[in-house]
Parts: sequence; structure tokens; C-alpha cells
Amino acid sequence: MKIAILGDVHGNLEALEAVLKEVDAWGAERILQVGDLVGYGPDPGAVIETLAKRGARVCLGNHDAAVAGLLQVEGFNAYAREAIQWTRKNLGPGHLDHLRQLPLVVEDGRLGVQLVHGSLHKPQGFDYVYSQVAAERSVDHQTQPLCFVGHTHIPCLFYQVREGASLDYEPEFEQGEPCFVSGLFRCLVNVGSVGQPRDQDSRAAWVRWDTDGGELRLERVWYDLGRTQEKILGAGLPRVLAERLSYGL
Ligand code: ZN
Repeated sequence: MKIAILGDVHGNLEALEAVLKEVDAWGAERILQVGDLVGYGPDPGAVIETLAKRGARVCLGNHDAAVAGLLQVEGFNAYAREAIQWTRKNLGPGHLDHLRQLPLVVEDGRLGVQLVHGSLHKPQGFDYVYSQVAAERSVDHQTQPLCFVGHTHIPCLFYQVREGASLDYEPEFEQGEPCFVSGLFRCLVNVGSVGQPRDQDSRAAWVRWDTDGGELRLERVWYDLGRTQEKILGAGLPRVLAERLSYGL
């Protein structure tokens, strides 16, 4: 089965549409999404609706939780807080209900996969997997062979060949090389971000997973980020949220 996994979209409809075009061209049968549908970007409602229409399975991100009133905004920086408040005002009650019912962890035993926004270590704490130690902490709680995460907006892949083995890091994943994950005991994959990449590559990121061959591959897609930037400025959102898209920061 061909499965597309999408990371943090953050209300960026142009990036989402460009990714979905590639997802369809590849022939994906399912879409998984690791949270943060909204926050920062100018089209939160359209992003929620687009992914809902496609039957995507989605877990709760920290921005989704804050917009929906499930998480205090005090922990966010000033720009993020301003965007969260703007997003809340620009969503309807149906959108907010949709965000409120998203699970912290999605688990599919048939596919052998889990989705969580930050880390499986206390998912409600939204830890960042920035290091080997943080990755180990998440993998310790992993109950399926594969787990997809987002939150840092930086793609990476860790794996464990068998139970008790050390956790290894696979640098080739970030280069877009195919990685074969069948037979691994555990694999933890950060799929990067659709709508606000932070690995100094402004292209939207997504991951394709062909379950038959057990092949994972990071994809990058150009999109009309100038249009998104115009919308961010037109909406009165902080200028820095538009500017950072040019640099992938
Ligand atoms: Zn995010």
C-alpha cells in the first residue's frame, strides 16, 4: 500500500495543495498527518477541510491544542501566540470542534504504525526530538515498528535493528535517499514540515511509504510561497512569519 505522511501544515494552503498534487501523482491510497494543521499560516480552515475531505488520519499538534483551548498559550513565543489568537478568531465552531477531537496518539496495529506530534514520551508535553537522547525516550514508549513525528519541522530518521540494540541515526534519509524499514524492530521518523520547513530548504516536505517494499523516502516540493507570504501580510499576521518561509527557517 502507498501511504503519504505529512508533517506540520500550519495553515499553509499553497504548500498543502502542491504536496497533495504530488501525493496524487504517486497514487497514494492513504494520508497520515502528524499534527499542527493550523497556527502561523493564513488558511487554517481550508487546511482542516482539505485534509478532512481526504479522510486523512491526524493526531493533535501543540498549535492545534492551543487554538482549540486545550493548551495554555503562555508556553509559546510572542509571534506564535499572536498567530494562535488570530487563528482562533478566524475559525468556525466546527473547525474548533474538529481540532478538539484529534487524538494525541494515533495507533494502527494493522499497518504497524503510530503517529504523535512531538514524542511518545508524555505526548501531552509535546517534547521535541532534536537529539539521540530525546529519540531514545520516545522509542522506549513505541509499541509499533514505525512511528512518525513532526514538531521540530526538521526531517530525520532513527532506527533500531532488534530489541535491545542501540538506536542508530540514518543521515541518508534527509538527502531524499530511499530507506528500507521492513524487518527493523523500531523506526522513528520525523517527516519534516509541509507549511513551514526549518531545515534551510524552503520547499514543502512530505514522506512516501510503500508498505510492500518497506521503502520510505523524503520528498520536497516547490510551491508558490510568494502567494502565502502575501496572504500572511494581508491578514495582519506578524511579518516574520512570512519572511521565514523564504529561508526555510
Ligand atoms: Zn509545528
